[in-house]
Amino acid sequence: MTGSYLRNRLFCPGPTPVPHAAALSSLNTNIYHRSQEFKDILISTRQELQAFFKGPHDPLILTSSGTGAMEAAMVNLTEPGDEILVIEGGKFGERWRKLGEAYACQTHVIDIPWGASPDMEQLEAKLLSLKNLKAFFIQANETSTGVAYPLLDILPLVRQNTDALIVVDAISALVAHELPMDKLPIDCLLSGSQKGFGVPPGLAFLALSQRAQERLSKRPKFYFDLKKELEGQDKGLTAWTPATTLILSLQESLRALNQIGPNKLAEQHRRAALACHAAAAAMGLSLFSREHHSHALTAIRLPASIDGGQFLSHARDHYGAIFAGGQDQVKGKIVRIAHLGFFDEQDIISAISSFELTLAAMEYDFTVGSGVGAALKALATDTI
Ligand SMILES: *Cc1c(COP(=O)(O)O)cnc(C)c1O
Repeated sequence: MTGSYLRNRLFCPGPTPVPHAAALSSLNTNIYHRSQEFKDILISTRQELQAFFKGPHDPLILTSSGTGAMEAAMVNLTEPGDEILVIEGGKFGERWRKLGEAYACQTHVIDIPWGASPDMEQLEAKLLSLKNLKAFFIQANETSTGVAYPLLDILPLVRQNTDALIVVDAISALVAHELPMDKLPIDCLLSGSQKGFGVPPGLAFLALSQRAQERLSKRPKFYFDLKKELEGQDKGLTAWTPATTLILSLQESLRALNQIGPNKLAEQHRRAALACHAAAAAMGLSLFSREHHSHALTAIRLPASIDGGQFLSHARDHYGAIFAGGQDQVKGKIVRIAHLGFFDEQDIISAISSFELTLAAMEYDFTVGSGVGAALKALATDTI
């Protein structure tokens, strides 16, 4: 299809589409990060972010990818030798485990099959067996599998049975799912710019509960020193030079997001997921997530006859649709469709139609159009 016009459409779970106003505002490169103008921008942007965190202080903005915020949480909330517990059900749970090991914590793991959620009885038994648990680490969305762990069940169980700090990686969950710190037992909530917030990669967000602020670690640290950031950012000062242009972008994205509101946004993401689920079922394909399907992305199992790598390149080269594949044990076997951040329902239909055309080109036996038809029907009959 070379020679024909193709528009790239990002359907991968980060980076996600950036709204025009947010992209444009980042062109203002003549701004000094210690000026009063920028200090005011940092303070007001943190206030706008708070709509998605609802914690005891406005979230900190860090200049790093999301993993930086994960590292900041590990370094600032644990001491070497501390017992920690990690839920590992995919690539990002694995990252918590590796961070715990890298920072010399006694890292206990609840290993669950990819696509599954933790078993509550097993979790409770594990919590009861760990008498000295200092911190508990989990994802809100395990982005590699499309599972949104049932935090409403899990987090209270951890709180009731331990004194551990509860750290939630909501890097791909926020905006799609509501996780208010004032209603849930969360001590540290993380997110990142290039997922639900529709900003290019390079910023991470982190908020701490009161008890987490009182338990900051004494271990050596340098770039990610949250005590320093907490003191500085209230005055509009980051410890190091921040990514000013991305913060300008964030300011614009948040303006758009907050005009809609966290509740309505979560509802839109739920509908997008619903449309993808209906489409997969109509095409005779199953979801990779067993239950607790994420509202940020949908992971679909490919038919055994189709190679995932070829699927992704065909969709990209012929329809401009950039889906994500599977990692590690599911490489080549699943396709992940993100519907996170600045997507509308027509975008979802476009994603499904590219998905169908690719399946058809790869000679999968199904009725072309059945996925789009089912998605439209699901959207039309879902009454909210
Ligand atoms: C994207 C993502 C991250 C962080 O990734 P970076 O590439 O470092 O920005 C962490 N956790 C989850 C669940 C994610 O989806």
